[in-house]
Amino acid sequence: MSATPHDHDQHESCRHYLRSISEYLDGTLSDTLCDEIEAHMATCENCRVVVNTLSKTVLLYRRLPSPEMPDEVKERLFKVLDLRPYYHADESSEKPAE
Ligand SMILES: [Zn+2]
Repeated sequence: MSATPHDHDQHESCRHYLRSISEYLDGTLSDTLCDEIEAHMATCENCRVVVNTLSKTVLLYRRLPSPEMPDEVKERLFKVLDLRPYYHADESSEKPAE
C-alpha cells in the first residue's frame, strides 16, 4: 500500500476518473467523459479492475432484492470492495414501510 513517486501522475488521473465511475456506470456521464474513461482504462489495469468489479457489484446488487443477500455476505462484499459509503447510504433507505 506504499505510494511510489513514479506512480503519482497515474494515481492523480485514476482518482480523477474514478470519481466519475458511478455516473459512468449509471450511464449519466457525457459521451466525451465516457470516452476519456474508456481510453484511460485501456491503459490502466488498476482502473479496469475497479470498474469491472464495481459494475458487477452494481448489476448484482440491482438484480437481487437486498433481503436475499445475507447481511454478512453484503458486509464482506462491500468491505472487500471498499464500498462502505455506498452500503451505508443504501442501508438508511433499506427498510420501506410496505
Ligand atoms: Zn487508472
